[in-house]
Amino acid sequence: MSTAAIITAAGRGTRAGGDLPKQWRLLGGRSVLARAVAAFDFCDRIVVVLHPDDMGRGLQEFGGRVTLVAGGDSRAESVRNALESLDGAGISHVLIHDGARPLVDRALIDRVLAALHAGAPAAAPALPVTDALWRGADGLVAGTADRTGLWRAQTPQGFAHDAILAAHRDHPGGAADDVEVARAAGLPVTIVAGSETNLKITWAEDFSRATKLLGDAMDVRCGNGFDVHAFCAGDHVTLCGVRVPHDRGLLGHSDADVGMHALTDAIYGALAEGDIGRHFPPSDPQWKGAASEIFLDHAVKLAAERGYRVTAADVTLICERPKIGPHAVAMQAELSRIMGLEAGRVSVKATTSEQLGFTGRGEGIAALATVTLVAP
Ligand code: MG
Repeated sequence: MSTAAIITAAGRGTRAGGDLPKQWRLLGGRSVLARAVAAFDFCDRIVVVLHPDDMGRGLQEFGGRVTLVAGGDSRAESVRNALESLDGAGISHVLIHDGARPLVDRALIDRVLAALHAGAPAAAPALPVTDALWRGADGLVAGTADRTGLWRAQTPQGFAHDAILAAHRDHPGGAADDVEVARAAGLPVTIVAGSETNLKITWAEDFSRATKLLGDAMDVRCGNGFDVHAFCAGDHVTLCGVRVPHDRGLLGHSDADVGMHALTDAIYGALAEGDIGRHFPPSDPQWKGAASEIFLDHAVKLAAERGYRVTAADVTLICERPKIGPHAVAMQAELSRIMGLEAGRVSVKATTSEQLGFTGRGEGIAALATVTLVAP
């Protein structure tokens, strides 16, 4: 089964307060929409439906990782545009998710997928209504309603792609959600257990609640790394991925990039995953002369597999020569590229040791690094 996620975020809802539409407001340092999209990273394709005015912002936020589709005049039209964009793309199932539900968790998504896997043409999460239901008029209770058999619908709603695309093509419009479209086409929709934390951000107080839920779940880790390489004969050194001309080289099994090694070890440290030597043994000839980018990329991916992202990295190079200052911006850019982290979260700085010790005597270069990792 190949699965695509369609994240709808074409609305301009500002009921949640602020000047920005709610999907672009920050929640724990990331936009609401970025959090919703990240929950579906495991899917084969991700399509994000945006208001036509937001396409530039979407490109900036997601780059080429997701397909951006312009929304239509109604929610149903927006979803249909996304479904049409997947037609013929070899997608068997789609998960249609509201971009204003940033806290959806993998267990809930897996319940929807399990129902589809078991053969259901449609499945959606919901919670039974537990509060008493009233009708009200003029501020007074005008009657009560029976809550038996009533459910509060959530997303992602999952469907066989061809079936829901056909259902949308046939639907006259005006449906509240895709389950209504599916049912109009005669598709049975399986209910799976929703989650109270999968809240839809609508009002300002929802932001406070989501921030609190996130705070309860957020795991922040720190790691530090230290590395030293000795000078040897040569005409350049490689530091933080940048080739710096010098009258000596650095001795090492790989490219001896002492800054990138310290940074990589800091990430492994935060994950309690040892150091570079554990993952890339120096005894293994395949890493001889290797570009250290391989190590850093591995550490960042290992963090992502564990549900962490690097949120800040700070590298200090310690040497008398070569002068680091003229290359620091290029080093910052290179580390930022490899880690997929915005440059404003990556620091490269340098100091001397006042001509004291081995770095002061010009025998080698030392590097220190500190990183923070955050989940989710
Ligand atoms: Mg090293």
